[in-house]
Amino acid sequence: MLLTANQTRLLYERATVGHFAILAVNADSPAAVVDCLEAAKQTQAPIIIETSLWQLTGRSFGLGDPILGLARYLTDLAVLSNSERYKNTPVVFHTDHIKGPETLAILTAAINGIPTNLSDQEQRVFASSLSLDSSELSAEENIEMMCTLCSTAEARSEKATLEMEAGVDKGVTPPSETKGIFGAVEERHPGHLALWAPGVGTQHGLDDGNHIDSDAIQKHQELATEICSRPIGLALHGSSGLSNDALQAAVQAGTAKVNWSSESLLIRSSLAKRYFETHSEQLSRNHPDFKSTAMDNGLQSFIAEQYIPKVGERIEILGGKSKAPAFMAQLN
Ligand SMILES: [Zn+2]
Repeated sequence: MLLTANQTRLLYERATVGHFAILAVNADSPAAVVDCLEAAKQTQAPIIIETSLWQLTGRSFGLGDPILGLARYLTDLAVLSNSERYKNTPVVFHTDHIKGPETLAILTAAINGIPTNLSDQEQRVFASSLSLDSSELSAEENIEMMCTLCSTAEARSEKATLEMEAGVDKGVTPPSETKGIFGAVEERHPGHLALWAPGVGTQHGLDDGNHIDSDAIQKHQELATEICSRPIGLALHGSSGLSNDALQAAVQAGTAKVNWSSESLLIRSSLAKRYFETHSEQLSRNHPDFKSTAMDNGLQSFIAEQYIPKVGERIEILGGKSKAPAFMAQLN
């Protein structure tokens, strides 16, 4: 089931208080989305499907138009998540690393709802939670943008569910920044912030030697919780390459959402490479299996067989396994 912003805030609080983290996969194709939902269903876990600007404008979704991309991505995810097969699987749609001049246009549309038929304003789909890429923004610009998103939700008499970030790749964020940036948004628009993503030593990408500062996670988590007077979990960016022990330490220290992109892409692309290497004979024009091998379903089924268990393993490492039934019962 695709969660609303309010249901998503409950889920993030539940993860923070219950010391587990929800896996957030940056899924960049319809097949990757299906595989992630399948892994969540098999492990009875909640899952976050997140998308960045490069997916929204990419060939599988918006073809250069991020709003069209968001409409296609979110509509597909809503139909899939609300289908009989996944009705008991809590699914969050999160916007990740949205940046550039169209940031506010994209995120405002995500809050106000995207018409599923772009010429019919009635039927709309909504994002569950939002974040934006602050790497090219000053602290003031970051605060202003987050406050604008809060105002947009308030104009609908609603609360957005926001993840705020600061200097993710720039080492450990000093606590004074948590007070100055995160605290400023909470003071002006109480109740919208749900996750805090400061720098905790990790790096985006696949560099060897990625590491994490668990003490910094705990201090930031406690400080953010104190500022908001409600449980605020940390969102961990740049988790690729971390050991299972490091991930579990991060969860115990207060991480509620773990983003996963580079490693997931590496697994999927390596499997695609292997598929074409091992099926070159079937891909010759007179082979009896040419069609079933050449069609997208052949490749995607091959990838799914090994990718889904990897996603399931990651969910289990983060403590998300079997957390869906109790959460769904809480909603009813
Ligand atoms: Zn990130």
